[in-house]
Parts: sequence; C-alpha cells; structure tokens
Amino acid sequence: MHTILVTGGLGFIGSETVIALINNGYEPVIVDNLSNSKEAVLDRIETITGKRVPFIKLDVCDEEPLRKVFAQYKIDAVIHFAGLKAVGESVEKPLLYYQNNLMSSLTLLKVMKEFDVRNIVFSSSATVYGVPERVPLTESDPVTHATNPYGETKVMIEHILMDTQAAWKELNVALLRYFNPIGAHPSGLLGEDPNGIPNNLMPYISQVAIGKRDHLRIWGDTYPTPDGTGIRDYIHVVDLAEGHVATLKKLDKNPGLVIYNLGTGKGTSVLEMVHAFEEATGVKVPYKIYPPRAGDVAENYANCDKASEELGWKAKYNVVDACRDAFNFQKKNPDGIK
Ligand code: NAD
Ligand code: UDP
Repeated sequence: MHTILVTGGLGFIGSETVIALINNGYEPVIVDNLSNSKEAVLDRIETITGKRVPFIKLDVCDEEPLRKVFAQYKIDAVIHFAGLKAVGESVEKPLLYYQNNLMSSLTLLKVMKEFDVRNIVFSSSATVYGVPERVPLTESDPVTHATNPYGETKVMIEHILMDTQAAWKELNVALLRYFNPIGAHPSGLLGEDPNGIPNNLMPYISQVAIGKRDHLRIWGDTYPTPDGTGIRDYIHVVDLAEGHVATLKKLDKNPGLVIYNLGTGKGTSVLEMVHAFEEATGVKVPYKIYPPRAGDVAENYANCDKASEELGWKAKYNVVDACRDAFNFQKKNPDGIK
C-alpha cells in the first residue's frame, strides 16, 4: 500500500494523520471541502514534513469530481475523515448531518467499488456505544442507538460499511472508534481550531487559559465518580494518527472487517483535566460548577487491548503532554489557523 486518499485531510485529526503517513513512507492525497478547515493547513503540513501534499478541493458527496481523483491517482486505500462532527449542531440541523455524513460515505463507497479500491479506514466514535452499560467499553459491547443525530450517522455508516463488506468480500474495512481526541502537533502549527464557542473541554480550557473566556463551566459535579465530575478517555491526536498507520498495515493482510477502540484505556475526570492543564502550563484555570449538560454520561473510557494485540499500537502520551501541546497551539494561534 502506498497512495492513500485522505478525505477531510485538512481537519484536526486528518492533518495529523497526513503527517504520520508521510513519516511512514506513504503518499497521501487530500480531498476536503474546507467546510471546517483552512487551506493554510497544507502550508503547515509542508513546513513540518517538507512535502507538498496533493490537495483537491471537493465535496465527497459530489460523485464526478471524486471520480476524477480516483482516475488521476492510483489509490490503494482511503481514510475517511470527512464529516460534520458538532453534536449540538446535529440536534438543531439533523438533515444537514444525515445528508453530509451519509451521502459522502455512500458516494465514496460507490466510487471505490468502481475503481476496485479495496481498503477503507473509517473515523467512527465512542458515541456509537450510546449510554454505556459498563466501562471500560470493549468492541463487542452493544451498538444500538447513539444519543444524538451526529452519533446516529456514525452508527448508520458503520452498518453501511459492514453490509458492503459482507457483499464485497475483497473489501477491507476498519472501523476506528475514537474516544476523546485532544492535543496538537508539538510544533504548535496544527491543532484543533473550532468555530465560535468551543463545545469540547480541551479547546474551552485553552481559551480560558489565554484569557479569551472568563472561566470554565464544569457541567456537573454530582456524577457517581470519585470527584463528581464526568470521566472520559482523552487521547493525544498524535497517538491517534499513529493508530491509523498501524491500521493500514493491518489492512495489508486482508482481514475483511476489523473494529478497534482507539483510546488510552484510562479515564480522566474534568477536574483532573483542569489540574493536568495547570501542571503542564503553569496557568491557572478558573472554573465554576454548572448543572449537568443534557445527554452527557458520567463515565466513558475504552478497553484498548484489541488494538494493542492486533495492531501493536498503544497510546504513548498522557493528558499532561496533550494539555501542553494544546496550549502551545492555542498560544501560537490565538485566532485559529489563518
Ligand atoms: P474536522 O472537522 O476538523 O475535520 C473534518 C474535515 O472534513 C474538515 O476539514 C471538513 O472541512 C471536511 N469535510 C466535512 N464534510 C465534507 C465533505 N462532504 N466533503 C469533503 N470534506 C468534508 O474533524 P476531526 O475532529 O478531524 O474529525 C475527523 C473525523 O473523526 C470526523 O468524521 C469525526 O466525526 C470523527 N471523530 C472525531 C472526534 C473528535 O472529537 N474530534 C471523535 C470521534 C470521531
Ligand atoms: N465539559 C465541561 N465543560 C465544557 C466542556 C465539557 O465540563 O465546557 C465536560 C463534559 O461534561 C464531559 C467532558 O468535559 O464530562 C468531555 O466533554 P467533551 O464535550 O469534550 O466530550 P464528550 O462529552 O463528547 O465526550
């Protein structure tokens, strides 16, 4: 495997994965419609790696331009990051989410079949487990319904990919269920660049720390957890990117369908994250306790033994490393990537 089409490759996780691909001798080709990213990311990838990656601006839902990319490059595998990902927005605009996330995946699969491209890695999410019956979550835990339209698109796309693989046996499908990706490239050139008020914990804390927001709003401190705040499995985006490289190596062995949790296997509470951030940066993070956020679960973390055994992959960084890198990115890009 050599040439890898990366859909959504200018986004937070995609751009980091493009760097990991280059570092591991692959030739990435990026397609992205820039709906949640900037073309300047390409220059930054070049600064970090010394390589100008081919980039085609297109919407993966548009069959014809996508077909041209498959005709121009001899694609060996696709990593499919392209998708909308804001949980709250998906509740307000469910049709937009179903349209974009499902249509892009269907169109991509159709064109892959046409060009006989037999490997796909899909960005799924821990959200497919819905409200967990127990933690840590393993890949065999039930996937029924997510708690919002965004999560529901992930459940549906997983099913579409599984059904397609069942009918087209030569297709190799990896469903990667990410837990909570945080951190940034250690150079501070690439990282998470959310529009407007961040919904996720890490970018919110970083914006409080640079004085852009007054205080962190901690959503609830009466959960049945040791300090009462919610527990998640935060994984450094550099580790996550490496997980994709390990998965491509696995697909080379024609495994058919494979499913992996990508997390650290360790839960961290909101208050522990605040302390990790303060330890990493020396900056105090003022916070206030608010009522719980609708739809939040108390505790959610992964059992990652399967990825460790079958991919030989494990997260190397901890939350202090991730907080340091996230803050470095935030300081260097106070108004995001321009
Ligand atoms: P991101 O928004 O930074 O990146 C997604 C990229 O896809 C963006 O550059 C956007 O412009 C592009 N895109 C969206 N729709 C497109 C379309 N129709 N055609 C072409 N490009 C399109 O998000 P991210 O955090 O890098 O997430 C990447 C993937 O991982 C997404 O599918 C997301 O749902 C999934 N995921 C993310 C998280 C997370 O917390 N970040 C967790 C689990 C799963
Ligand atoms: N959280 C918080 N304040 C914020 C954002 C998040 O207290 O401004 C908490 C949230 O309740 C959850 C954890 O931080 O317990 C992670 O939230 P995030 O939105 O980053 O991830 P998700 O809930 O999707 O796992």
